[in-house]
Amino acid sequence: MIRSSCVCRKKSLFNEYILYKNETVFKDYEGTIIGICERCKLLKTFPSKKNKKFDPSITKIQDYESRKKEFKRLFEPLVKTVQSYAPKKGSVLDVGCSSGILLALLKSKGFNVFGIEPNKKAYLAAKRKLKKNIYHGTLRSRIVKYHKTYDCIIYNHVLEHIPDINKEFVLIRKMLKKGGTLIVGTPNTDNIIFKIRKKYWESLLPNEHVWHFNTKYLMQYLYENKYEVVFLRFEDDERKQYPLIKKIYFNILSLLNKIFFTGEAVLIIAKKKE
Ligand SMILES: [Zn+2]
Repeated sequence: MIRSSCVCRKKSLFNEYILYKNETVFKDYEGTIIGICERCKLLKTFPSKKNKKFDPSITKIQDYESRKKEFKRLFEPLVKTVQSYAPKKGSVLDVGCSSGILLALLKSKGFNVFGIEPNKKAYLAAKRKLKKNIYHGTLRSRIVKYHKTYDCIIYNHVLEHIPDINKEFVLIRKMLKKGGTLIVGTPNTDNIIFKIRKKYWESLLPNEHVWHFNTKYLMQYLYENKYEVVFLRFEDDERKQYPLIKKIYFNILSLLNKIFFTGEAVLIIAKKKE
């Protein structure tokens, strides 16, 4: 058992859920434990002390920029979602905006865009793209210097990297307008591909992700924090590079995910109440 902080309580006990041991393929994760909270069942990463590669603040800017076209296409549904749930020309804040690809798309649709990014290189790339309203840091480091409320705040595959979720939600509440939209995209462990692949699940990324959420947990958490979930969308990894046989296998698993209304990633749209 590991004693550590959890979203449900300051300190909690975690039981071992996954252990990376004697790894041949995932050598980078050697000794890492994915623990499950005794109280709320949330999964959390515990890197081994020897593991120097664990870095939740990592931003793969090269990935984003070299696959810009692909990301633009992948972000299309998200852009459409923002258009449906945020007011026209409204203010949108992308927390962990990376090199600003999503913000540039939203800007082209007429939104007043803002971004925060802790990685210097990514921040500079976003600033080059968007020219203004891009900040270097995290929500925690910005709030003292920047008082404003937004129509929409986006955490697109960012929340699972943030160690203190409760503190983050206090800030989100301060910075989101009443009735404003909170958009959270994150890997979802409550899906058939994770259940089969466990530690080999591609979206687990234990050197980057502190938390491994599931949809039910997040919906409950949003409800407790006075948000109303208005929309859910599930997605599975395309696994474009995989050989045909593997692709067919994953397509079948994907189909099962669809039948059970789940997926490897979830996009949650919630409205702030009160
Ligand atoms: Zn917990």
